[in-house]
Amino acid sequence: MSYSTEYRAHLSSAYRGAPPAAATAPAAAPPRRHVVSPPDASEQWYLEPTPSNRMVLALRSGIDDEVSWALLRLANLSNEHGHRFNLAAIPGLTDALFLWPQEFIAAYREEQLRHALFAPTTSSASCQKHAVESLLVLRNASLLETNATHLFNHSRMIPTIADILSLPDIADAYPEFLYYALELLQSLAPNVVLPAPDSADTQPIPLSALYDIAKTTTDRTMLIAVFSALTLILSHPSNVSHTQISSISPAILVLPLSTDTPLLTAALDYIFTVLMHPPAAKAFLLRLEMPSTVKMLVALLKAEQPEEIKEIPIGPPIRTDQVEAKREDYVLTEEDKQRLIPMAEPERSFDWMGTVFEFSAGAEQTQVTFWTLYRDTFTPYADQQPLLPAAEIIKNVTIAFPQSQAMVLPGDTPRFIIQNIRRRARPSEADRTRFKCRWERETCQAGGTPFSSPDELYAHLLGHLDTAEPAACAWGTCAHPATSLANLRGHILTHLPPPVDPPKHPSQPSGITLSASQMTPEPLANPIAREPPPPPKTTLKYSVARAHAPSTTLTALLILRLVFHAAFPRYASADAPGEDDERFGFPEIPASAGNAAAGEQDGGADAAEDEGERRGQRAFESVRTLLTGVKLADDALMGWIAEMISAVGGIGGE
Ligand SMILES: [Zn+2]
Ligand SMILES: [Zn+2]
Repeated sequence: MSYSTEYRAHLSSAYRGAPPAAATAPAAAPPRRHVVSPPDASEQWYLEPTPSNRMVLALRSGIDDEVSWALLRLANLSNEHGHRFNLAAIPGLTDALFLWPQEFIAAYREEQLRHALFAPTTSSASCQKHAVESLLVLRNASLLETNATHLFNHSRMIPTIADILSLPDIADAYPEFLYYALELLQSLAPNVVLPAPDSADTQPIPLSALYDIAKTTTDRTMLIAVFSALTLILSHPSNVSHTQISSISPAILVLPLSTDTPLLTAALDYIFTVLMHPPAAKAFLLRLEMPSTVKMLVALLKAEQPEEIKEIPIGPPIRTDQVEAKREDYVLTEEDKQRLIPMAEPERSFDWMGTVFEFSAGAEQTQVTFWTLYRDTFTPYADQQPLLPAAEIIKNVTIAFPQSQAMVLPGDTPRFIIQNIRRRARPSEADRTRFKCRWERETCQAGGTPFSSPDELYAHLLGHLDTAEPAACAWGTCAHPATSLANLRGHILTHLPPPVDPPKHPSQPSGITLSASQMTPEPLANPIAREPPPPPKTTLKYSVARAHAPSTTLTALLILRLVFHAAFPRYASADAPGEDDERFGFPEIPASAGNAAAGEQDGGADAAEDEGERRGQRAFESVRTLLTGVKLADDALMGWIAEMISAVGGIGGE
């Protein structure tokens, strides 16, 4: 044996955890799952370019363990060392890799006949495993261009893929097998040239089998693989005559899945490849799904654009003045003093603190100020009640205000402060006169002191209404006409101020807007002379495309343009792309292909063509509003959109 028993054990343990058959594994299983690092970490030894290469011999041996070992090594090599894994360099290797897939295909057909598809025998299970692994090795190798060319020219390659594609129900039975075959096909597709559809030659790749897979599969990975393979094959200039318009239906069905970028990209690329063929684009106009497809593509354009709102300030320059209510410290009223002076300490200090100070998170008060205020307030009455010492007053603060804290802030000169308290504010003029009686045109004296609540004020006002009917309202400047006392009692309720000022609306700015030219300081002596202020903020808002569009947008737009040109031929002829035109990396359509197809048309086809154009034009008319909402950063692409809008605008005007 060429390898140690230790490595054998390693191998079998690597496989013990693997699923018994790939049929139960998801089709999207990453190809790397077979990779196991060999204990010797050296792969070079297995790449000996001789006919007696150990892996080739093992593959051909037909011994299950030998084959498993060789395929594991090859999967590892082709994946990890793909850049120097040259199939052609090892004589007989490519042939050996086709052994198991072909055996599997034969066995599958036989089982199909016996209706035993989903119950493989032990021998066919290992055959299926070897076949899938062989395909995986081929698929990995095909990613290297030299290998792809070598495989394409190998007599068994294309027939094997064609056989796999034609196996009935293979997508459900062994999705992994089909998936690797499709990926192999993608690597080879750029070389595939199909004979003309009407030629007597058999088609090497049955496109109808690919169409069937696209139509029936519910496997997203499989859909991407099929669309990609079809795109690559039909992109070849010689194969355009094979395009079938009905084959894009599965791709159109996935367009709403716009968040799945890989699937969307594959579907859009395929739709574009088909519609690039002018007869296909004409035929598409007659299909029932055309209007909804156009709408979906425009919606996609709109949905994918990252937009931002731009604001341009307009209007005259302005300045703002901050409006701040002047905060005045609370001072003891006569009433307060009469209450406080006779009190005993320490109750007096607590009452005084609560009257003059309040809790305020983050505020601070120096201990000296605090003590001085206390001392100045009560020293004149020291003969009635002795003052507390400073230390005790400071200590009492933390009792009166549990959240406050007497502390020393370190620094060059340490600061002694009390945290979290501040002086109470004196009620503002507005607060003090809030419930003032303004009867008799502001001349009512009403005891000199304002009322403290709307109820008190109303009770007082009712006293004014003790008069002859009908009476007029005498509140301030009110012009309410004379009416019955009952009505007037209702009316004066409208003059009562709310118990507290309504809170400022959050959107109300804290400043007042002034014209920048008016430089006189506020408040003005004569506010009536102030020129009307400009609006606080005048801006023009509009949305623009923020960044360049993703590639799916470009493909969607290219598809729309193809459909547009089919529906509006005069726009297509006006600026038909020339030889040097930017083709966004897509291959040129040979002029002969389009002309040949066009030549086949007879009179009946002309009528159908006219009908198609009418339907296409209607489809674009119906998305006109949607189109006007599309914004792209690229000016040339925006020009295409503008052209579509103007085209349907022109029809609407006729
Ligand atoms: Zn009054
Ligand atoms: Zn009134």
